[in-house]
Amino acid sequence: MCGIVGIANAAGAAEYTYVGLHAIQHRAIEYAGMVTTDGSDAFTHHGTGVVRQVFNQPILDNLHGRFALGHIRYATVEDKNSHQRNIQPLIATVGDSFVAIAHNGNLTNADSLRQELLNDGALFATSLDTEVILHRFMRASGTPTERLIKALDGVRGSYTLVLLMPDMMIATVDPSGNRPLMLGQKDGGYFIASESAAFQAMGVTRMREIEPREIIAITKDTIKTSFLPDWTAGVRRRCRFEHVYYALPSSIMFGQDVANFRLRLGRALELTSPTLDADYVFGVPDSATFIAYGYGASGRSGIYVPGILRNHYVGRTFIQGRQGLRDTGVSRKFSVVPEFVRGKKIALIDDSIVRLTTMPRLVERLRALDAKEIHVRIGSPQVISPCHYGIDTPTHSELAAAMMSLDAMKTRINCDSLEFLSLKTLRSLSSKPDDYCYACWTGQYPACMEPQENAAPT
Ligand code: SF4
Ligand code: MG
Repeated sequence: MCGIVGIANAAGAAEYTYVGLHAIQHRAIEYAGMVTTDGSDAFTHHGTGVVRQVFNQPILDNLHGRFALGHIRYATVEDKNSHQRNIQPLIATVGDSFVAIAHNGNLTNADSLRQELLNDGALFATSLDTEVILHRFMRASGTPTERLIKALDGVRGSYTLVLLMPDMMIATVDPSGNRPLMLGQKDGGYFIASESAAFQAMGVTRMREIEPREIIAITKDTIKTSFLPDWTAGVRRRCRFEHVYYALPSSIMFGQDVANFRLRLGRALELTSPTLDADYVFGVPDSATFIAYGYGASGRSGIYVPGILRNHYVGRTFIQGRQGLRDTGVSRKFSVVPEFVRGKKIALIDDSIVRLTTMPRLVERLRALDAKEIHVRIGSPQVISPCHYGIDTPTHSELAAAMMSLDAMKTRINCDSLEFLSLKTLRSLSSKPDDYCYACWTGQYPACMEPQENAAPT
């Protein structure tokens, strides 16, 4: 997963970008980069680590200009041999001009598009799917918007993109609308971010979401909207996992308030999988906190208490590269409040089970503190299939629910009961359930996002 922040026409654009990226750091912690421009030259800085490790004040002082584009990322399935060159934004220079590009999402036909370009003499500097779009953009003719449309014609999969040129910033969202992108405003400048939480941190007013297919081109004097052709024939496949797990609860995306969605999710989970007479409801922080709060709202399945605390100085376990690191991450990451555990019946809520890294260790901790009963409830269905659109669940063999039965999972967790939210209930939480992607829970990938030759029915 990645995060993007773009600033068009604001003094201190680099500082704004830093603050914005830092606010959405939960989306990715491996790499960060920024390109700025003063209207003629490009200034760049890229590095490994979280935003505050990659940038400091002297570095920001050298990122001049009123336009800036920043990106944070972690390596996804197509990009396991990632290295310094793969850090975005990518930048191509032509004569005394340049184009920088930042991408969130994952293309599904990047390999064949790359091969076409290689056959045509293109030289690639990175192994990123994003570079395919950059090459196609560089080769296209017309206005920047026309070139972007030509570059994206035939590109499949998931993308939100922001491009920076000396005199213009362009943002677009793929026709399926798979990943979020927001537009904000302050003092005559325009702000773009993967999540609206970035706007809060930057003190920017959130205007609206950038719609699927929409292209927004911003110069120092103008902002213009146009649209990509409707390559998916109106089909939307917004990532449901964003609401369930990824986004900050303070964000609003795909027309739904994330906190409110998670509260409703928790209430629905309690209705379908109650833990009657439980003493307490715990949520695995931070992503399941709101779901647990919703689960405890009726009071009949236990009262929500902050029984598990999270050390915020340890990164998100899910997005750290190696299994060994993730394991130590879990034990360093959580502490449990003994007062809420001893002799108690506990409903333990998490948003999802992906690799089954966290839950067995937490239950072990609760057992060691003499919990009477532990009932695990999960706020989404079993994750049985990898995501091809930018979330790092690369193979079936890493997905617990793909590899073992519900009973085997329960035994491994060592809980008294284990229940997941049904797909039907998850779908019921939107007035437009068909506008969402559920592929990681169903294994049915949206046809509109697959390479055409392999397209399966949606
Ligand atoms: Fe999101 Fe899952 Fe679809 Fe990937 S497969 S886009 S994680 S809902
Ligand atoms: Mg979690």
